[in-house]
Amino acid sequence: MTLDLLIAGARVVDGAGNPWVRADVGVESGRIALVARPGKSHSARRTIDGADRVLCPGFIDIHGHSDLSLFSFPQAQSKLLQGVTTEVGGNCGWSAAPMNPEMEAQARSEYPRPDDVPWGFQSLDRYLAALEQHGIAVNYGCHVGHGTLREAVMGSADRPATPFELARMGRMLEEALEAGAMGLSSGLIYAPGCYAPPSELEHLAALAYRHGRLYASHIRGEGDMLEQAVAEAIAVGRRERGPVQIAHHKASGGPNWGKVSRTLAMVDEARSQGVDVTLDQYPYTASSTDLTAYLPAWARAGGTRALQERLRDPSTRTRIREEVRRPIADAGETADWSLIVLACVRGRRDWEGRTVREISELTATDPVDAVLDLVGAEGGAVQVVHFGMAEDDVRLVMRHPAVMIGSDGSSLAPDPAWGKPHPRSYGTFARVLGCYVREVGVLSLEAAVHKLTGLPAARLALTDRGRVAPGCWADLVLFDPAAIQATATFGDPCRHPAGVDLVVINGVIAAEDGVPTGARPGKALRAI
Ligand SMILES: [Zn+2]
Repeated sequence: MTLDLLIAGARVVDGAGNPWVRADVGVESGRIALVARPGKSHSARRTIDGADRVLCPGFIDIHGHSDLSLFSFPQAQSKLLQGVTTEVGGNCGWSAAPMNPEMEAQARSEYPRPDDVPWGFQSLDRYLAALEQHGIAVNYGCHVGHGTLREAVMGSADRPATPFELARMGRMLEEALEAGAMGLSSGLIYAPGCYAPPSELEHLAALAYRHGRLYASHIRGEGDMLEQAVAEAIAVGRRERGPVQIAHHKASGGPNWGKVSRTLAMVDEARSQGVDVTLDQYPYTASSTDLTAYLPAWARAGGTRALQERLRDPSTRTRIREEVRRPIADAGETADWSLIVLACVRGRRDWEGRTVREISELTATDPVDAVLDLVGAEGGAVQVVHFGMAEDDVRLVMRHPAVMIGSDGSSLAPDPAWGKPHPRSYGTFARVLGCYVREVGVLSLEAAVHKLTGLPAARLALTDRGRVAPGCWADLVLFDPAAIQATATFGDPCRHPAGVDLVVINGVIAAEDGVPTGARPGKALRAI
């Protein structure tokens, strides 16, 4: 047998958490065909010497947001060049399908380069087919967003769903699950997801469970109400007897630092009682979201245009201003405007990289007025980066055995239309291996690789990915453990990492020496 590709003599970290072993790994017809002790010679069309490198499964980004950006950046450079070979999108309650025409028009108006996207995703099936037809470098699966379902059925109404509306959401969800959605996601700080009572989420999660899928939640608060919000997520899995993934786990805001020790204890207790709950995390002390998330939930009802109208009405604007001045109970965020940096502002590129407080000083307005003026002018398209976490919390969460790594970022390439995004899109995976394994020693190499590969694969029931084992798809990364490093920073976030030599996806070399080959071997992954 002549192999398509042989990577010879690398330190192989298998993704299951086992200590590395030196081995030859061969690829044939897209799959791993050989894992053998070095010594014997094998014939291959191409042989790569892995002697001073680590070879491991390609990284699985279990929490991504490339739902639309993959059309603009099908090469997925920001992820691919870190070694990501599979991404799961549709997170935080928002998926690109199923959209109705009004939602599509809204998404289009807020998308930096709308002409790149084919649009028209009334069904998840059609959306995945469009991605496949477009051609993508990385494998991509997605959840169905609860907020997307809710908006499609009842707009952005601030009330519980009627039984009829809930049944319609359920039918749309089941259609998407049958088309291969990985699960149901919720985003309970965002409109319209924030208007849903727990019973609505339990009902829909139960449908996902009946299809053997996951419930993934951006919980109702990550600051002042962190513990109640974690309890709500766990309760879904306990009541409906299915798997729960708590997204990007953190404690936001100085007064809340340290609370993750209590929430991790809650997870341990639930797991000891048989509740299947796991978590993910990105390795930074800053988060990123829409500026509108800092506004009260009621003010966001009816969508962005309704919010902008409320801001034009002086008495309603005053009410919104007063509520934003207080920490928002809904979002649990303590809004310290000197810690919130504007990341993407299409109408004011010159403000990107500055804090809200700096903008308020520049414009001689109160910081809250500066925020309301920005939302009034730009709608829902302003992205911010919020320095709200403690490094000790990040490390404590990372060490927990039920925590895996997800970027919470998008597949991007350097492009001024996207402003200064959070560096997690370019750096998450390399940062775990460079900073938290090599420099700080929070995790062993094998434990980290497990959190980047085998653990998310198991969580997503991807039985033939996330491991270096014969028969698995040949999604592989070869990197230099002494050199791998994220170079993306908050000031200069669109920089690709160092130390990643080779990325193989479905047996095809997709990047080599830090450069994409141009191949688009990724598949749309449909859960079955
Ligand atoms: Zn989220």
